[in-house]
Amino acid sequence: MPQRRRLANRLGLLAAALIFVAVGVGVVLGAQRFIVDANRVSHTNEVIALVVAIEAQLRDGEAAQRGYLLTDDVDYLADYQRSRGDLPELLAKLHALVRDNPDQSRRVLAWKLEIERRLGQMDATLGNYATGGLVSAQRSIGQEVRRTSAALRAQARQLVASEQQLLVQRAESSRSSANLLRALAILGIPLGLVIIAVVYGWLVAEIRHRARAEADGDDARGDLLRNIQALEQHGADLNELSRYGGMLQSCVRAEEAIGLATQYFSRLLPDTGGTLYRIRASQDYAEEVAHWGEHAINGPAMFPLPDCWALRRGQPHVHRAHHELLPCSHVATPSLGATPSYACVPLIAQGSQLGLLYLSSHDDAFLARMDLVKTAAEQLSMALSSLELQARLRVQSIREPLTGLFNRRYLEESLARELARCERRHMPLGLMMLDLDHFKRFNDLHGHAGGDALLSEFGRLLQALSRDEDIACRYGGEEFTLILPEADPITVQARAEAIRAGVEGMRVTHLGQELPPVTVSIGVAMFPQHGGLGESLMRQADAALYRAKRAGRNRVETATLDPAGDQSAA
Ligand code: GH3
Ligand code: MG
Ligand code: MG
Repeated sequence: MPQRRRLANRLGLLAAALIFVAVGVGVVLGAQRFIVDANRVSHTNEVIALVVAIEAQLRDGEAAQRGYLLTDDVDYLADYQRSRGDLPELLAKLHALVRDNPDQSRRVLAWKLEIERRLGQMDATLGNYATGGLVSAQRSIGQEVRRTSAALRAQARQLVASEQQLLVQRAESSRSSANLLRALAILGIPLGLVIIAVVYGWLVAEIRHRARAEADGDDARGDLLRNIQALEQHGADLNELSRYGGMLQSCVRAEEAIGLATQYFSRLLPDTGGTLYRIRASQDYAEEVAHWGEHAINGPAMFPLPDCWALRRGQPHVHRAHHELLPCSHVATPSLGATPSYACVPLIAQGSQLGLLYLSSHDDAFLARMDLVKTAAEQLSMALSSLELQARLRVQSIREPLTGLFNRRYLEESLARELARCERRHMPLGLMMLDLDHFKRFNDLHGHAGGDALLSEFGRLLQALSRDEDIACRYGGEEFTLILPEADPITVQARAEAIRAGVEGMRVTHLGQELPPVTVSIGVAMFPQHGGLGESLMRQADAALYRAKRAGRNRVETATLDPAGDQSAA
């Protein structure tokens, strides 16, 4: 809440409180004043009544005195004495009543003196009556008596008039205080109420403002919580991604990497179908190699590369249901109407496309995780590319480029291994040494390139006439070796003959010209008959080959049956 508003609220409440206190104080003071005024009125009435009573008492005294003078009846004298006797007390009471008013007090004293003078005059008249009779008494009543009586009446009127004037003044003051009170109430109460209403309005606004601020605070707390959760999720995702990346790097075969990626994607996007395609070596078709989950829309097992926007453009393509214009041809199904959401992420490494990750779902949630998907796809691409490179290097390290056959190093390794295996399993093994006949001459006649073309074709023929488990090698130059594990002598013999005949019938075209046919000489040695070690077996086969050459070439010769003789010869 702004500081100023808080201060204004406090001041407003204080002002309202002051106004109500003022109204209250005014009411109390006004009531007190009314009580005082009422007391004064009764006091004034009492004073007036007392003045009237004293006048009446005096008149009673005069009447009794006159009665006595006229009738000489002593009862009148007794009445006179009684009235006269009461007067001092009444006058003392009147004086006590007006003690608080100096003017009235002075007037009462003067009136008292005048009354005493009049009583003195009446006493003197009675004295004259007692000594000189009625005539003497009448004589004593003269101007003096009339003047005193008139003064008495005037003074009494003055006393009453003064009291009445006081009454008027007090009535006036109590009217003005009543007016003031009314004004205070008429103005103060509504003003206080207005101030309270304004402060109430401010407070209501303030409470609303605070409620809003609290709601905003709740929203902010909610946002914070969601952000923390998102961060935690992000951290867990990154963890998983780095574990997946690490494992990808340790894969030794592409199938392994694809299997790992399949598991990773199906866990990352549980409600999303996925398919991994690899692009064929011919770079014309994408071929399905793995899939998981349930697709919103299944793709074909194989499709031409231009059918996919992602493969055409070399970048991820995301299609949102009801949003995008044209779906990929490998996804589109015009019969189903709108295409559901899907994403195609090309697998690209070292600038070449290796495959495609295709994801689809009826729920768009997976699109929010595309960043993670792209990173994981990149890691898969890199792993596939590196595995491909490794495989190529491995082939290069054991294959010989001109003929595509295994090289001599591989021959030596595999001969030792295959021999040990056959020995363990008590199986035979055949070994052939092959040498093209008069190849030097062929080279001389048709050039080195022509010779190479022939060697290459011979490699193909040898491969074609071998079983999968056979190992065909280029031993060096135009000499070749074929290892036939688990093949018995008759089979090996037949195979050698087939190869010899195959070379005879082989036709090679070089630079648009058909080269003349060549022949091959073959020496055969068998395990265990002709040796137990690779080296001795090779020597036996070589010796057989030498014999074939000497015997006229284009033929097959088998080693002699005496390995011991060979050993001794060596
Ligand atoms: P034969 O074996 O019938 O006794 O006669 P030959 O002419 O084949 O004799 P030799 O084994 O001595 O000759 C081998 C020739 O093969 C020598 C060389 O000119 C040729 N040669 C060796 N390696 C290659 C190669 O990689 N390419 C080509 N074009 N020729 C090769
Ligand atoms: Mg040779
Ligand atoms: Mg030769």
